[in-house]
Amino acid sequence: MDEERYPTEFPVPDLAPYRRGNTGVDYVHTLDSSAPGPHVMINALTHGNEVCGAYAVAQLFRWLVRPARGRLTLSFANVDAFSRFAADRPSATRWVDEDFNRVWSTDKLDGARQSSELARARALRPIVASADLLLDLHSMHLPAPPVMIAGPLAKGRELARRLGVPEFVVSDAGHASGARMRDYGPFGDPSSARNALLIECGQHGERVAADVAVGTCLAFLREAGILDASFFVAHRPPARVPQRFIQVTHAVTIKTDRFVFAAPYTGMETIAKAGTLIAHDGDERVVTPYDECVLVMPGPHRYRKPGLTAVRLGRVIEAPAAG
Ligand SMILES: [Zn+2]
Repeated sequence: MDEERYPTEFPVPDLAPYRRGNTGVDYVHTLDSSAPGPHVMINALTHGNEVCGAYAVAQLFRWLVRPARGRLTLSFANVDAFSRFAADRPSATRWVDEDFNRVWSTDKLDGARQSSELARARALRPIVASADLLLDLHSMHLPAPPVMIAGPLAKGRELARRLGVPEFVVSDAGHASGARMRDYGPFGDPSSARNALLIECGQHGERVAADVAVGTCLAFLREAGILDASFFVAHRPPARVPQRFIQVTHAVTIKTDRFVFAAPYTGMETIAKAGTLIAHDGDERVVTPYDECVLVMPGPHRYRKPGLTAVRLGRVIEAPAAG
């Protein structure tokens, strides 16, 4: 399969109607109920090619979502990258200069370096910093089950548990190459009640990924408690499912230019036995380090270069009761 090409099975939204927001930042709208309550934020297009999230946020606008308590911010982050979106070259539109989701540390945001993504992150920063709850919508290169990325803290797992979807919830410490928006400031502080989740909905252009994005927004908004119940009668959140919690334990870093997986893994496969071959890296065999090892989001072929992460490995820390 050519991983560079895949269909987009839903209409990619035209964002022009959403450009002029009311926050002073383009493509960012804050809907204020004027009643006390939390500031809840749903963001799409952290990566410019992850169009299922844009579809979901546009759907919330079309449904005329309005908070009854607190505030709701709806945003599209990397619109400069998205504006270059073309279904036949999706990797060209992921970002302009660098990964928007690796710049969320104070040293980078306060630093002197400039880039398209740093400029956008600096514009969004005060809004993100004032959010009590953040949902960041993402999608994947390969068709795979949706995965909630709950971050390193118990509070992230607990929020994912309250949403009740999807089945897979992954705890991880993020990436050595830079901090994610979902880990920014108080979201990464165990003593703060502020909380954030990142959902990987499925393959970018799949109809089912768009449905997961919309459903996760609804589950998140239900949990946030800022909408009237009538909204969820008209727009039903997905049913809660038994969830499987996975802790990332290893990153498989590529050493040679001859890294090949042993099977066409797409993500969330569970390998039963320790010592099972999952890849060859040059002459080295890459094997699972423990029983019931989960393959978390293997990277696509074009990212298989020395120094990059091929796949992360996770241990199941909580599984649905059998039967
Ligand atoms: Zn992403």
